[in-house]
Amino acid sequence: MWGFRRTQSAEESALFSHQLRRALREPGCPICRLVRESEERWIWTLLYEFTGDPEIHALLARSLGLCAPHADLMRKVVEGRRLMTPSGVARLYETVVKALEGELRQGRLRGNAKKPECPLCTYAKNTAERQAYFLAQLLSTREWRKEYEASDGLCWPHVRQVLAQAPREVQEWLTQDFAGRLERLRRNLSELQRKQRYDVPEPVTPEEADSWREALWRLGGMAFEGLLVEDD
Ligand SMILES: [Zn+2]
Ligand SMILES: [Zn+2]
Repeated sequence: MWGFRRTQSAEESALFSHQLRRALREPGCPICRLVRESEERWIWTLLYEFTGDPEIHALLARSLGLCAPHADLMRKVVEGRRLMTPSGVARLYETVVKALEGELRQGRLRGNAKKPECPLCTYAKNTAERQAYFLAQLLSTREWRKEYEASDGLCWPHVRQVLAQAPREVQEWLTQDFAGRLERLRRNLSELQRKQRYDVPEPVTPEEADSWREALWRLGGMAFEGLLVEDD
């Protein structure tokens, strides 16, 4: 379960389209959101059920734990969700600490040597790739295009990922849609600056007021402060 299955079933397609439809109705990039949700679930499942699993212990020993953003997300999950206890993290990281001690003892100070990627980074990349693939297919239909147009749309990194897997005609449609969003964003950014001058009495619209935040996520992708997946 720590990796990613490459199979594709009707059931899986239904699940992906259900998730994408829901995410399109939430603020910001739908793929960023789904990736983040999947990261939170991965951590929750790991800590709830698999802290004794030799496979995940071996993975974490090789990567020497999680990367900084994912380690911080693990902290948030432990602090923010029910049924989570710090002892799960303690159990996993005892292994990681031992692994690092072992390396130091053997004099294998890694310096520039490449250590394996954080397993949650690998998982998140695969999730994004998969969601991008499904969205690329779904955007062939009018119904999904309408849904997409009414949404906040994708961030640029995920537009690129969808474009890479989309049929030609979807590529053209999505590129045009994104160009339109950029044009609106640029107008709002410029209006925000103009209206913030002391001698301009016109009110700033909500879109203009928010445009600098949009620019940050639209170009770079989204970061989320609180947990997206909560206890029922
Ligand atoms: Zn995104
Ligand atoms: Zn990571």
